Amino acid sequence: MTQYVYFFGGGKADGNKDMKDLLGGKGSGLAEMTNAGLPVPPGFTVSTRACNLYMETGGRLPAEVDEQIEKALARLEQLMGKKLGDPADPLLVSVRSGAKFSMPGMMDTILNLGLNDRSVLGLKAKTGNGRFAKDSYRRFIQMYGNVVLGIDKDKFEHELAAIKKKYRAAADVDLDEKALDEVIARYKAVVQKETGRPFPQDPREQLRGARDAVFKSWGNPRAVTYRKLNDIPHDLGTAVNVQTMVFGNMGENSATGVGFTRNPSTGAKEFYGEFLQNAQGEDVVAGTRTPHPIAELQKVMPEAYKQLREITTRLERHYKDVQDFEFTIQENKLYMLQTRNGKRTGLAAIHIAVDFVEEGILTPREAVMKVEPQALDQLLHPIFEPKQRAKAETAAKGLPASPGAATGAVVFTADDAVAWSQKGKRVLLVRMETVPDDIHGMSVAQGILTATGGMTSHAAVVGRQMGKPSVVGCGALHIDAKGKKLKVGGQVVNEGDAISIDGSTGDVILKEMPTSPSEVLQVVAGKLKPEKSVLYQKFEKLLGWADEIRRLGIRANADIPRDAKVAFAFGARGIGLCRTEHMFFAQDRLPQVVRMILAAARGQRGLDLTRRLKDRLKEARGSQTAEIKKELAKVQKEYGKHVADYTGALKKLLPMQRADFAGLFKEMHGTPVTIRTLDPPLHEFLPKREELMVQVAVLRAKGGARNKAEVARKEKLLRAVEELHEFNPMLGHRGCRLGITYPEITRMQARAIFEAAVQVAKKGIPVKPEVMIPLVGHVEELKRQKQIVIEEATAVLGKDGSGVEYLVGTMIEVPRGAVTADEIAREAEFFSFGTNDLTQMGFGLSRDDAAKFLLYYQEHGILEKDPFVSLDAGGVGQLVEIGVQKGRKVKPDLKVGVCGEHGGDPSSIHFFHKVGLNYVSCSPYRVPIARLAAAQAQLEKPVGD
Ligand code: ADP
Ligand code: MG
Ligand code: MG
Repeated sequence: MTQYVYFFGGGKADGNKDMKDLLGGKGSGLAEMTNAGLPVPPGFTVSTRACNLYMETGGRLPAEVDEQIEKALARLEQLMGKKLGDPADPLLVSVRSGAKFSMPGMMDTILNLGLNDRSVLGLKAKTGNGRFAKDSYRRFIQMYGNVVLGIDKDKFEHELAAIKKKYRAAADVDLDEKALDEVIARYKAVVQKETGRPFPQDPREQLRGARDAVFKSWGNPRAVTYRKLNDIPHDLGTAVNVQTMVFGNMGENSATGVGFTRNPSTGAKEFYGEFLQNAQGEDVVAGTRTPHPIAELQKVMPEAYKQLREITTRLERHYKDVQDFEFTIQENKLYMLQTRNGKRTGLAAIHIAVDFVEEGILTPREAVMKVEPQALDQLLHPIFEPKQRAKAETAAKGLPASPGAATGAVVFTADDAVAWSQKGKRVLLVRMETVPDDIHGMSVAQGILTATGGMTSHAAVVGRQMGKPSVVGCGALHIDAKGKKLKVGGQVVNEGDAISIDGSTGDVILKEMPTSPSEVLQVVAGKLKPEKSVLYQKFEKLLGWADEIRRLGIRANADIPRDAKVAFAFGARGIGLCRTEHMFFAQDRLPQVVRMILAAARGQRGLDLTRRLKDRLKEARGSQTAEIKKELAKVQKEYGKHVADYTGALKKLLPMQRADFAGLFKEMHGTPVTIRTLDPPLHEFLPKREELMVQVAVLRAKGGARNKAEVARKEKLLRAVEELHEFNPMLGHRGCRLGITYPEITRMQARAIFEAAVQVAKKGIPVKPEVMIPLVGHVEELKRQKQIVIEEATAVLGKDGSGVEYLVGTMIEVPRGAVTADEIAREAEFFSFGTNDLTQMGFGLSRDDAAKFLLYYQEHGILEKDPFVSLDAGGVGQLVEIGVQKGRKVKPDLKVGVCGEHGGDPSSIHFFHKVGLNYVSCSPYRVPIARLAAAQAQLEKPVGD
């Protein structure tokens, strides 16, 4: 026989704390507290199994469920010495829902069930308190009417307000018994009118009705939405708790309250909570009367207070976690009604985890498991002043791309952002979407807001990397960049108007909001001494424990020394990805880059032809010599200028890149620095075709000699842009394909890397460069690029290597690369999975266009998560696994890492840990998250111990 009903009472319970699946959180907590001998009103829990049956059968529960409930009820009646519905001395119960995870949005609790027109008189007689009895009855009709019969709450509130007005009562408690009789009469009339039936008087019918309402509430839209948002499975079901009532509304020596064993927003070790005298149930949180801070309970009911502190302290130790509890005091006697692990902010989580270790409640390993990695984010970014935030209205919502609160004056272009901020204004950059040459504006802005794009759009990735609060893909914005204004929900925001965004939630608020800076970040940035910040010390302590546990190395994706410095301070030990091209967008470089691009095709061809002819010249005899020389002259005439431009631009870029790399090496203090050779399609460095066409047309219309020269220049650029145009740039001329067709570029970059390495090594700072070739799909691609790198290394480092050890490896980001990883491993000294591209190509899903349908996919359950945010373990993950296995088959010690955005996502980190990667690399601000997530992955699934 299946057990559907679990009893608790008389010092013993059928269930315990490990039965949340079956009894829900509330039921298992009540059972556990009962077993611990705490004062819990007795009752029984109908299991989630019954709920699932109820849902499956459309409400036809097997008879055994009802039989078991009857039995439990009989046992309860015996224990309490009262009977449900007994007109002389009724047993009253509450009916409470309770799923495995606490879920606001589910059914409200029903109290005082068992009262009817006759038993209310019995309750009055038995307690000698008519006011209390009537108050309990009117509450019951109201709750049952609303929750079970589906009558609008307002209908009852309306009647209550009328009576309060009639008797000039300020609060509910001011109504006397006679007034409450009137309320009851009116409530019953409401029920009759709304349902066409009188209020049910049969307690068994009441109980069945309440039970079924709880089961049904599992499927109500609010609950379904909540589960979706919080990744809670839909098939868990909810339990129903039927529990003997105790009364906080029996007068001034009675009370009800809620509390936490520690402050859940700051983590401070202080008793935290509120209570109300002569009140019941949710009065404390309903806001109708102002509750008192729990400390005052000590004055009014010292005995109960003392007992409450003892019990909750015990519970905290028992559960090894902060407890969120509910209690009721009936005539000075304390009852516990609920306990569960308390939700807390990221800030509180750190304090609590470390304090618990210091108090001997948790071991460091247990503490590491207690903090949600994602919650660390809250410590690194500015936040809105909580009270102000609660008051402010959310005007629109976008994707929470990069956390933190930002407020500033709206500007619509990167140039304006710079101009305004030079005048000392704090700006918020609002763009349709951002592009690489918006970087200068992004870096001065307080935050970034875009109307299109997903979690891995340019704005999102760069925002995270810079640690800038960013909200992207906010479709409700209608941006008129030319007119310098935007519209959202009927409101117009002009350039210069203040708005605020919350990158942790995606909220957009149309006014200025006060923010406070992150203490941890101030320490990391060297603006605050670590000794001055208790928070920072605890943060580092917790992460220090994580470091001792984890097997994955943590590196950062950083392009410039400033980011590298932050990354190192956060605990990154290496750079997993330096995107060399990001440095190309700097204002002093872009002209050289453009010059290089314009000349690249012909310049490289000129160089190749010249080289070939010169080789032939060496072996030439007699008349051949003259002929080759003539041909050389012809090549010189045709290509000379392009060659000069091409090599000239590269020569100018070399020292700039060298300086960048030297800076990175210095900041990383001898940890490995992985530098990727040029990756994006070249057209990304040039202006947009449409823009150029407009400019040319405008200049032509203006006429004049100066404009004419400018027209010629722009037209040349336009031709180049058109030549470089690709239908599918992400699958086009990019990655190693550039370095193969334009080897001079790879050569220059390799040279810059090794010259920088020598420079820094000479100063006594160790360096470990790792040169990484992107987008390799065929071993031959890597082989050729590697050869160039080695040639330059040998040329720069000399035979002895100048004390610089380096590696040449590749990104695995093309599916073909993953499945031929064994061949590639013969050439590669390391692998780094570029999971952004691997997802894009593995799914055949354009990262830049996917926002349009990916959200739909998620909303309709086709995909559970955005695969660009959380690695698709089942599909793209297999490519990673195959890559690792095949690579290590050839080279057992092959170092393998990941440098896609997934490197900072906790669930992806669990996957990477499991498949045996050596390290993950993520944006600097996610390094702490990665450290903690990697430790949790090891604790959950130990490898290598
Ligand atoms: P929620 O899940 O919304 O917290 P609960 O089932 O915990 O709902 O009930 C809310 C409140 O109702 C409790 O905090 C308590 O004050 C009151 N309550 C519930 N059951 C009882 C009971 N048996 N006796 C007295 N008060 C109760
Ligand atoms: Mg509760
Ligand atoms: Mg890539």
